[in-house]
Amino acid sequence: MSTPLVRASGVRKSFGHLEVLKSIDFSVDEGQVVCLIGPSGSGKSTMLRCINHLESIDGGELTVDGDHVGYERRGDILHEIKESEACRRRTEIGMVFQQFNLFPHMTVMENLIEAPVRVKKEKKDIAMARGRDLLRRVGLETKAESYPRQLSGGQQQRVAIARALAMQPKIMLFDEPTSALDPELVGEVIQVMDDLARSGMTMIVVTHEMEFARAAADVVVFMADGQIVEQGTPEELLNNPQQERTRAFLSRVL
Ligand code: ADP
Ligand code: MG
Repeated sequence: MSTPLVRASGVRKSFGHLEVLKSIDFSVDEGQVVCLIGPSGSGKSTMLRCINHLESIDGGELTVDGDHVGYERRGDILHEIKESEACRRRTEIGMVFQQFNLFPHMTVMENLIEAPVRVKKEKKDIAMARGRDLLRRVGLETKAESYPRQLSGGQQQRVAIARALAMQPKIMLFDEPTSALDPELVGEVIQVMDDLARSGMTMIVVTHEMEFARAAADVVVFMADGQIVEQGTPEELLNNPQQERTRAFLSRVL
């Protein structure tokens, strides 16, 4: 048996008195696509942010490819590691946000090569060659010299995906990647994500796009109120939910 690429067991997280993650158990195998769905405020973004240690956790264990992203074990105790070391480990985890977060003063190509050159110390021509491949993959080969403000939201989000892939991550995390887009631009981003899923990339996707979940997910996880209520194949979870809370949510979004 291979170990899962992401493994959460008993993960807890609070903000002050508010318990946002209440003992989450969850695993993702290499090559799997997992869609995380649930009402606003249920803890989906916090879960993603804990996976790449943009948030610390208060209990339980969370590993990516066997490593604690933000911690090291000394004896029986997990100690939080230095931010610089967390940054290095985080380079193996690609993240795409609702707001594309491109560097506005850099061209598309400069956005793509910034982290590989600065963080990984890659040679610029190697990073640029990969950048061109990635732009072709997301259908933007003619936009290398454009600035983000010259692109549509859908194009910017495709650049953001290419930028995350430029670090050659082991896994890609998406937090509502199409929620800020005009409806007519959603399809082009979903297409890129579909292609990526088909290429074998391991992905965790927080989304309200149920058609994407249906078509691309191996597993759909329904979260509510800081807990995983149920999970299953898209067929099981979307067509035949077992829990009343899941049914109520799906009746609102489907
Ligand atoms: P979702 O992504 O499912 O909408 P979130 O993970 O963003 O949910 O938020 C879960 C809960 O945690 C919400 O009640 C939110 O207000 C709260 N929360 C998230 N981030 C913070 C923070 N940095 N400080 C305090 N509360 C937070
Ligand atoms: Mg969220």
